[in-house]
Amino acid sequence: MPSALVNPSTLRFPRKCPHCGRKPEGTYAVAAMRGLDVFFGDYAVPLLIDVPVCRAAFDRRRAAAVAALVSVLVLIAAGGTGALVFAFKGAWIAAALSGGMAIALALGGRTGWDAGLLDRALLGLSARSESSTRLRLRFTNERYFSEWTSINRSL
Ligand SMILES: [Zn+2]
Repeated sequence: MPSALVNPSTLRFPRKCPHCGRKPEGTYAVAAMRGLDVFFGDYAVPLLIDVPVCRAAFDRRRAAAVAALVSVLVLIAAGGTGALVFAFKGAWIAAALSGGMAIALALGGRTGWDAGLLDRALLGLSARSESSTRLRLRFTNERYFSEWTSINRSL
């Protein structure tokens, strides 16, 4: 999968959808994930990158964002509730597994790995910020990537 390192302040996108190559009809704000530094670094507002996409990609990505949020919240709630119920019954291993699942989902969501997977699958690219001046972009479409590299300068 091609990827590139760029300065977000000079980032530009071709006038086509990274997913299907059609004419863009709007922009989707892709959040630049940050790695494990979300747990240790200073608080920072996630960097949002406006990527021109077609309407179909926009609608699919937005629907997936809602579904992912709801299912993760349901699983976290179920894991937390399960942990309490199992602990109450003295089933400690089951309680630990349920609680661990809820914690893993809550922590994993903070790194944005789930959003990154959806961005790549539904929009054709994802972003991870390495610092305020370094942004790692990943592309799933080789042709879009070559057009992108022709109008951007990699670090
Ligand atoms: Zn598209």
